[in-house]
Amino acid sequence: MGGISRLRAGTVPKGNQKLVKSINRNIVLNIVRQYGPISRADAARMSQLYPATVSSIVNELIAEGFVREVGLGDSTGGRQPVMLELNRGVYVACGASIEVGRVRVCLTDLDARVLARAERPLSWQEGPRKSLPAIVSAIREIIESGRVPPEKVLGVGVVYPGPVDTSTGAIQASPHMPGWGGFSLRAALEDELDHEVLVDNDANAAAWGEKWFGAAKGHSSFLYIMADYGFGGGIVIDDRLYRGRNDGAGEIGHMTVDIDGPQCKCGNFGCLDVMASGTAIARKMISDIKRGAETLCRDLVGGDIEAITMDTVLEAAAMGDPHARAIVEESGRYVGIGLANLVNCFNPELIVLGGQLALRSSLFFTSARETARRRAWPVLGKDLDVVPSALGHDACVIGAASLVLTKVFESPSVRAYA
Ligand SMILES: [Zn+2]
Repeated sequence: MGGISRLRAGTVPKGNQKLVKSINRNIVLNIVRQYGPISRADAARMSQLYPATVSSIVNELIAEGFVREVGLGDSTGGRQPVMLELNRGVYVACGASIEVGRVRVCLTDLDARVLARAERPLSWQEGPRKSLPAIVSAIREIIESGRVPPEKVLGVGVVYPGPVDTSTGAIQASPHMPGWGGFSLRAALEDELDHEVLVDNDANAAAWGEKWFGAAKGHSSFLYIMADYGFGGGIVIDDRLYRGRNDGAGEIGHMTVDIDGPQCKCGNFGCLDVMASGTAIARKMISDIKRGAETLCRDLVGGDIEAITMDTVLEAAAMGDPHARAIVEESGRYVGIGLANLVNCFNPELIVLGGQLALRSSLFFTSARETARRRAWPVLGKDLDVVPSALGHDACVIGAASLVLTKVFESPSVRAYA
């Protein structure tokens, strides 16, 4: 019952009736979300609240549009009960993912199902101020496409590929998009939009999305790793995102996996990023061809080997090219070593692997999973569960919308005492 058991009101100060009511409301809403269609009586039994309390909360939730009645259930002797379920269609959330070269946006229902999606190019090299109009108009257009009244838009979640100060919504540093570090993204967007804006790191948001709506539903401690042109990671411990002192936890790309490895752009040596990222495997393929390696990659780019990217290598590997397969498999092995180190630190219930490397190449995925299982401490590694992201290529943008959606479902006690 992920998300429910922790809602018990044990830590609520006596006399704080408003908070108690709000916690009870949250318990009922989450039961309907997870177990609907469900009758009022069953919701009362599950929540251990008085039936009258549940009825009055349900009426409130129906009036607000979060819950709806959906016909009659089976009778257990008396009248057939009216069944309740989450009313997915009234409220929407907007998610936006700022990426190198583009901004992707989506509109989702209350259950994070994508209602509409779009993307537009971003001239990010010109800096955040000049990129802002494109981001704002993409968000406005996707919200307008939903044709919902403004008060039914729960807010806008925005994710960025670098560390973000979640208390201020400012970008802290910008390894992939020079010039964006220090930009107050949330404030700039809130000046332009009539909705609340929440900003977070892309991998953290994707991890959050997987927890609430994806592969990690029902898990309270897990790791999400995004393996793409670079790496990102989100660490969820006891139902909370672990952010670390500077909102920087989960930067697994800069974990050392080869103490004698080449220098990474962070200044260190042998980081996962420089050994195994999508950027690294393309670089390795180019240098191997220059040293005489035979591979389909050369044909795929019409002989212009400097044009080889991660896509080229993945495509050649999928076509059975032995050299491309060897590079992809080795990348998976390095990632597996990184995962094994994380498993020994966190002993997670689950690892969710996302990003293009993991989602497009079963060779990479299998290599990473098997290496992690083999190289983690045996007690922790032998039945380690590693699964692909359920949100897939939409993980970042749905994760962004999840930042907003989960404010509806998250326990007010957690927020109040966070
Ligand atoms: Zn590094």
